[in-house]
Formats: sequence, structure tokens, C-alpha cells
Amino acid sequence: DFIKESVMDGIQDEGEMPAESPDASSAKSMLQDERKLLPIYPYREELLQAVNDHQVIVIVGETGSGKTTQIPQYLHEAGYTKRGKVGCTQPRRVAAMSVSARVAQEMGVKLGHEVGYSIRFEDCTSEKTVLKYMTDGMLLREFLGEPDLASYSVVMVDEAHERTLSTDILFGLVKDIARFRKDLKLLISSATLDAEKFSDYFDSAPIFKIPGRRYPVDIHFTTAPEADYIDAAIVTVLQIHVTQPPGDILVFLTGQEEIETIDEILKHRTRGLGTKIAELIICPIYANLPTELQAKIFEPTPEGARKVVLATNIAETSLTIDGIKYVIDPGFCKIKSYNPRTGMESLLVNPISKASAMQRAGRSGRTGPGKCFRLYTAYNYHHDLEDNTVPEIQRTNLANVVLSLKSLGIHDLVNFDFMDPPPSEALLKALEQLFALSALNSRGELTKVGRRMAEFPLDPMLSKMIVASEKYKCSDEVISIAAMLSVGNSIFYRPKDKQVHADNARKNFHSGFVGDHIALLNVYNHWKETDFSTQWCYENYIQVRSMKRARDIRDQLEGLLERVEIEVTSNLSDLDAIKKAMTSGFFHHSAKLQKSGAYRTVKNPQTVHIHPSSGLAEVHPRWVIYHELVLTTKEYMRQVTELKPDWLVEIAPHYYQLKDVEDSGTKKLPRGEGRAEMTQ
Ligand code: ADP
Ligand code: MG
Repeated sequence: DFIKESVMDGIQDEGEMPAESPDASSAKSMLQDERKLLPIYPYREELLQAVNDHQVIVIVGETGSGKTTQIPQYLHEAGYTKRGKVGCTQPRRVAAMSVSARVAQEMGVKLGHEVGYSIRFEDCTSEKTVLKYMTDGMLLREFLGEPDLASYSVVMVDEAHERTLSTDILFGLVKDIARFRKDLKLLISSATLDAEKFSDYFDSAPIFKIPGRRYPVDIHFTTAPEADYIDAAIVTVLQIHVTQPPGDILVFLTGQEEIETIDEILKHRTRGLGTKIAELIICPIYANLPTELQAKIFEPTPEGARKVVLATNIAETSLTIDGIKYVIDPGFCKIKSYNPRTGMESLLVNPISKASAMQRAGRSGRTGPGKCFRLYTAYNYHHDLEDNTVPEIQRTNLANVVLSLKSLGIHDLVNFDFMDPPPSEALLKALEQLFALSALNSRGELTKVGRRMAEFPLDPMLSKMIVASEKYKCSDEVISIAAMLSVGNSIFYRPKDKQVHADNARKNFHSGFVGDHIALLNVYNHWKETDFSTQWCYENYIQVRSMKRARDIRDQLEGLLERVEIEVTSNLSDLDAIKKAMTSGFFHHSAKLQKSGAYRTVKNPQTVHIHPSSGLAEVHPRWVIYHELVLTTKEYMRQVTELKPDWLVEIAPHYYQLKDVEDSGTKKLPRGEGRAEMTQ
């Protein structure tokens, strides 16, 4: 039930698209012709001139105008890569992979040769690489090894409007090195028009605008709020499909789970539509989508069919999908928020900002007039949505960044040149946390432990757990656990029609109620024993792809162990040693069972529960440590291991006193076979 409110403000038809190129003889020359059709192409010379004349420029251009794929190529063609690499950062790893693949294709080279990408745990570059796409986090890490970025002639901080934590820190770092590296060119590019702020920050750098080619977009709002936006999105997709002229659909969703749900329901519902209705091709895209499936969203839709792309925020500005004519915007995205007082971080589904809503709508008007269906009311839009999203630096745990900055020798964080400074409370909390982890001393200086931790591209708690494994002689096991945790929650496969089998298979890894971390280790070790067998994964309801990724990550962690001179030693017979190493990193995340059956976090008390997927969900050990909190219907601890409270005092004496871990011991423990013994 939609009402049409208005044609999007400020959008005009800027003329026809240039005529189709004639049949090209080869794919490469066809791609070369396509390049010339992009809105940025007419500005090529002017842009190169501007880069020549200025050290820093801010570039603004509509999504899809060709900034990311073309500018690095122009620079290459103009000879900049003779003096060093052109680096281009992306806030999202999928974007770095997908865009570099496209550029390699356009240049007719193999990905990883002249054009490559680098994302955490995956380096697809070589000696030959001159155009390097990477996540902003990876460039930040490169500073650690090359503080003046000597191997680069140009750095393009792309998608600057996203204002991710890493991008914000990069701003400060690149601005600083540009002062003494006059030969380094900096391009700051953004898809939104508030470029003044970037220009002001970079000492009034000139702004280069690439006029977009936008077509009118009809915006429709719902007449009443939707109780269930998932259902509303599905109904809207089907309505468009059945009643609207050809053109692909883009739906913005908040995450993988939602996307998979809708994918399944849509497949089911379209089955019954009969042969009169055109085929609906469903293409999901989200951060953890396996690489080989990512390319599917770019494949042209066959004649007579319609494509529906189910995407996270990644399709808002990072990726441009051609042929989208209809956008469905439920108005939500997942946003990280952080409470510096309690140190709790959570990822929550939140309403988007007006700026995001405009970007989303714009995706439907790239190649012709489009329509955007907002699954919220006009009143909602005007009165409830914020103008802009708060930059990540103001709503996240800063421990990781503080550790990186400290290892770059930047001590005075309060006076660091932030575009928008983080709350001082959050900075303080990060310093405190790093001190508790022994990464910093009481003067705030990096310790040997801290220096070693900084070598690992992991959260400080995970890197501390690895560094601590030296003491407990179990580095072999601990890096396996860290690798498995880094893969995320996609190890176990639980198909809807085989849940019982899947759950039974899963229980095998938990025997003895060893806890979720050791269970992950068991999975890894069993798989290794079968010589990394795919068949074994199928039989045990384990996702092969996730396991391969874990193996890759583990290999890299093993390499890093060598770098920080920690021997790879195995201590599998002593599970307590492994748990102690884990506790050394995760002692902040401790919780104690309450009489009610719920848990309370030990410091900054908060009520939490063991996630139903945990192997300890029915066991209720008195003390636990957990990997992370997730808020769904309740605040859940995910990946939980039993703990002896003495360990907290033994391992983190500056953080826990005896009184914190005193245990009245009156509560009767629920029975559980083979449970590890309790301390009292
Ligand atoms: P911008 O960075 O200005 O948003 P891009 O350079 O990303 O623009 O996109 C320019 C064009 O390249 C778009 O038409 C887009 O569809 C196309 N493109 C980008 N990546 C891919 C890809 N992986 N496969 C196919 N086409 C792509
Ligand atoms: Mg781009």
C-alpha cells in the first residue's frame, strides 16, 4: 500500500545515454568502449591535470560514475605507477575484491598481477601489482611496516563518506605523511555532496566534482508503518515482479540471515507463479558471501527474466549494479554501538539516516527513470530519521586503533588530528583495556607484549590470547581456536530439514562439555586428521568453505607467531592450559551464574544468557568466559567456555580482586555428565 510523495529533489534528466557501442571484436575492446561511456570519462584530462597541479584533491561523484574503477586506471595510464603503486582503499572487503576483479578484466590482466587486492587474511597481489585495492584497515596495517608509505605514488581514500573507523584514522595518517612526502598524491573520494568537510580538513584541498547522470526517481512511502518489514519486502518484490515493466530490483537488508530467509521464501513463492510470469533470478550479496558467488550479481539479466538483488548496505554506494530500476528500502541497517562506560559493544538493527535513504533511492535511477519503495511512512522519514549516520569512531571500541597508533609511535592520542574526535571516555576506556591486557604500561607506553600483539591483525583480546599461549605452551591449539573464531558463525551447517542430525553431529565435538572454544578446536583437529577431507565435512554438517578459510587464517597466524618469535607448541592434553591462555585475552568477558539461571557479567554487571547454540546452553557452569555478546531476543553470550574463578585473579590481578570472584557456593549445580570439575 504505497503513496507516491514526490519526485526526488534536485534530480534532473541530464540527457540520453550515449548510443550503444557497435559490436566489438573482443571482450577487452568492448570493455574499453564501456569505460568511455561512464560519466567520469569526459573529465579524464581535467582530472589528471588537477592531480598534477595539487597534492591533495577531494573528488565527489555519484555512485556508479566510475571513480573507483577508472581513476586508478587513468593514473596508471598517465604514468603514476612508474614511481610507485596506486593504492585505493575500500571500507568493505567485498568491494575491494569485486572492484579489483573488474579493473583486472578491463585491463586484460590476471587478478593478482598488475591489479590486485589485499584484505585481512587474503593478499591477492604480487611483485607486479601496481594498482592495489584494499580495505582501509589493511592500509592502516601497512603503515606499521612502511610508515611513510614509500612504495606508493598515489593513495586514494575511497568511499570517504562512509567514515569508517579505519578511514578516519587513515585521514590523520595520510595528512601527516603528505607534509613530508611532497611527491605523494592524495585523493579523497566520496559519493555524497558534503565534500566541504573533507576539503576543510585537508587544508582547503580543491574539490573536483564529477557531474552524475541521474534520472528521476519516484519515491513511494507506505501509508501506515509496517509491522514486519521482511514480509513487506517480500510482498513488494512479488508485486513489482507481477505488475511492473522489466527492470531489476534491489532490496536493502540488514544482514546475511535476513537475506537467506528472504531468498528461501522468494524461491518458494515464485515456484507457484506458473509459466506466464517471467523468471525471477535471486542474487544475494553480503560480506561473507563466497567469492565465486559474488560475481553473479553483475551478470546481465537474460532477456525476459528479472533479477532481484538482496543486498546489505554494500550496495548503497560501494558496489554499482547495472540495470536496477526498482529499489525496496525497508529503512534499516545494522549499526555498531558502544557503551564506553561498560565497555559493551553491540551490533543492532537501527533506522538508517536520511542521507542513506537518498543514496538507496538513487540506485534505481542510474540508467533510466526508477522507482523506490520505502517500507516506512513519509512522516517517519521526515520526523524520525537522523540526517546523517554518526561516524564509526564515535560509537566503537577503540582498543584496536589505539594499539595500532601506539605501535606507530603516536602517543599523544588526545591531540591526534581527528576529523571528528572520539569521545574522550572511549579513548580512556581503550587505554584502560590495553593496560589491563598488559599491552601498555602505566605510562601508556607500548610493552613487549603490546608490540607482539600489534603484529596480529586481530582484536586485542584475541591477539593477547595468542601471545599468552607462549606461557601455557599451547600456541598450536590457540591459533586454531583464534582462526576458527575469526571465521565467524558459519562453521556448523544446520539445514532446516536435517536439524536433528546436524545437532547430533555437533554434539560429538562437545563431548565432556569442553566448551565452545575447545569444540571448535576439536572440529579443526578432526578435519586435519582426515587430511582436510571434504567428505568428512559433509558427514559432520560442517561448512567446508568456512573450514578452508579457517585453515588459511591459521596458516597466517602461524607465520606471525614466527615473526614474534613464539614457538609453535602443542599442549592438547592440558585443556586447562588452553583455557588459561584464552582467559588471558578474554578475562574482561567473564560472567557468573545467578540463582535465576541467568548470568551476570562480573565487572560492569549486566544480565546475560548463554546462547542456545552453545554446547554449554543446558549445562550452566557457574563461571564462564565468552567470546562476544549478541543481542537478539535477549543479550546472549556466544562461544562460551567454563572458567575457574581463581584464574581471573591469577591471570589479571590488576583487574580482579578476590572479592570479585568469591563464590558463595550455595547454589546447587545442575547435573551434567562428564562436566569439568568446579573449584568449589
Ligand atoms: P563509483 O566508484 O563512482 O561508484 P565504479 O567505478 O564502482 O563507480 O563503477 C563504474 C562501473 O563499473 C559501473 O557501471 C559498475 O556497474 C561497473 N562495475 C564495477 N564493478 C564491477 C564488477 N565487479 N563487475 C561488473 N561491472 C562492474
Ligand atoms: Mg566506488
